[in-house]
Amino acid sequence: APVETLPPLEILLCSPRGFCAGVTRAIDVVETALRRFGPPVYVRHEIVHNRFVVESLKAKGAVFVKDLHEVPDTGAPVIFSAHGVPKTVGEAAGGRHLLTLDATCPLVTKVHREAEIHFKRGRHVVLVGHAGHPEVIGTMGQLPDGAVTLVETVEDIEAFEPPAGKDLAFVTQTTLSVDDTRDAIAALKRRFPAVAGPHIEDICYATTNRQEAVKQVAPMVDALVVVGAPNSSNSQRLREAAERAGCKVAVLVQRADEIDWSRFEGIARLGLTAGASAPEVLVEEILAAFAERYAITVSTVTTVKEDMFFPLPRELRPDAA
Ligand code: SF4
Repeated sequence: APVETLPPLEILLCSPRGFCAGVTRAIDVVETALRRFGPPVYVRHEIVHNRFVVESLKAKGAVFVKDLHEVPDTGAPVIFSAHGVPKTVGEAAGGRHLLTLDATCPLVTKVHREAEIHFKRGRHVVLVGHAGHPEVIGTMGQLPDGAVTLVETVEDIEAFEPPAGKDLAFVTQTTLSVDDTRDAIAALKRRFPAVAGPHIEDICYATTNRQEAVKQVAPMVDALVVVGAPNSSNSQRLREAAERAGCKVAVLVQRADEIDWSRFEGIARLGLTAGASAPEVLVEEILAAFAERYAITVSTVTTVKEDMFFPLPRELRPDAA
């Protein structure tokens, strides 16, 4: 339709949004490994939680596997995803002399080391996180069975029975809701005032900053779209944050063809953001889809500038070629 017949729509882009330093590095690990070793390179688990990213890397020769057993002994490298892996996975790979490249985000590794230090000091570790998420499986897998208790909610913390005679410590998943986690840690400290923990929580800078931008934009718009995958924790938290900030329509979509347009009827202002694993090209795709139906004007709301950068693992740096 000619532009003048389309209804006007003001779009506010949240900034920061999309790729974080850990995701950029993880994708770079796969691409560099493909150049260095040639295809195939094996990747255990989705390198980051985004189908588009996974499919693009598959097209270049990456082979995604669920389990190490699926990796043949041909000398091809195997990459561990950004979410981290339990110790047993690294050990199994070492036992088979597989060439491993670790794309675990350094901010996840930092949590692994915290958990290990607590354990060495004789503390029982409480992990605040979501059951079944690969990062939680990886963090729990840094310590022997029974050394970590996973709690998901304040109710879990109220019901938690600590092992007798042990000091306590806590760590968290990196991609949680900042507000929920503050409540969970407050509940933990109320029950166990001596609990040891990080100075500032383990939620990463990218999760914090993307939630902050959404909280600022959500009250100003009629609807908000988060570009991201349903299994992406930080993306789900962005959608929730928008809803809690008073935005009635807050939806998570992976691609433009998933949009249920009936939900956007009659809106005048739209917020748009993307989870840490969603590439900017998908944000552009969503913008283009709105531009077909509305006369859009786009502006950016910036809450903070990011300049985080994580170098590649040592084995993949140019001087290691
Ligand atoms: Fe690392 Fe945070 Fe990005 Fe996860 S979301 S990869 S912890 S920077």
